[in-house]
Amino acid sequence: MPQYAEIFERNRQWVADRTASNPDFPASLAADQQPDYLYIGCSDSRVTAEELMGVDPGEVFVHRNIANLVNNIDLNAMSVIEYAVRHLGVKHIVVCGHYGCGGVKAAMQPQDLGILNPWLRNIRDVYRLHHTELDAMADPALRYDRLVELNVQEQCINVVKTAVVQQAYLQGGFPTVHGWVFDLKTGLLKDLNLDFVHILHDIQEIYNLGDQPGWHPTGAAPTAG
Ligand SMILES: [Zn+2]
Repeated sequence: MPQYAEIFERNRQWVADRTASNPDFPASLAADQQPDYLYIGCSDSRVTAEELMGVDPGEVFVHRNIANLVNNIDLNAMSVIEYAVRHLGVKHIVVCGHYGCGGVKAAMQPQDLGILNPWLRNIRDVYRLHHTELDAMADPALRYDRLVELNVQEQCINVVKTAVVQQAYLQGGFPTVHGWVFDLKTGLLKDLNLDFVHILHDIQEIYNLGDQPGWHPTGAAPTAG
């Protein structure tokens, strides 16, 4: 791990390296951003959004918090989604979880964690929604991995529940929403290929804010009713 002063030396070296391969690099940094992706991921230091996606500065708008949660009274997350969709016009919104997530693990343990309690309760609620499937899994490690995936799924649904996402999708056909999991053991991304049409089938009407029937910000064509 670098010492504090070394960070600034590394920063200067980074600019020099980037400029050597692209003389326009400083100017391109200062230009307006037009990212196609909003990435919502975990704050975990091992899950680095840009690096694991292999993208350059300007290509992804990033929001990270403990256990990649999308809570509808989190002004931070809601502002990020609003800005990304309405002002940046992102084409894709990704919720990326990761196996071995400390936040998910903590939520699986019945103990008082102070100010983390209300935050982690979002994950406990995911467990409650899916307890039949999870409780049927005998292997705790598999149950842990599955809760990571189901948490991503529920946070994707929380993204889809927002008015700005529904309305933008109805007007322009994007953004589409994707659930990914990063595997710390391999460094590989896994696309959960969530079937939103099926997942939303029974709950779509409850959360419809688009003022029109049929929103599926999922890559699938909107359907009536
Ligand atoms: Zn995590």
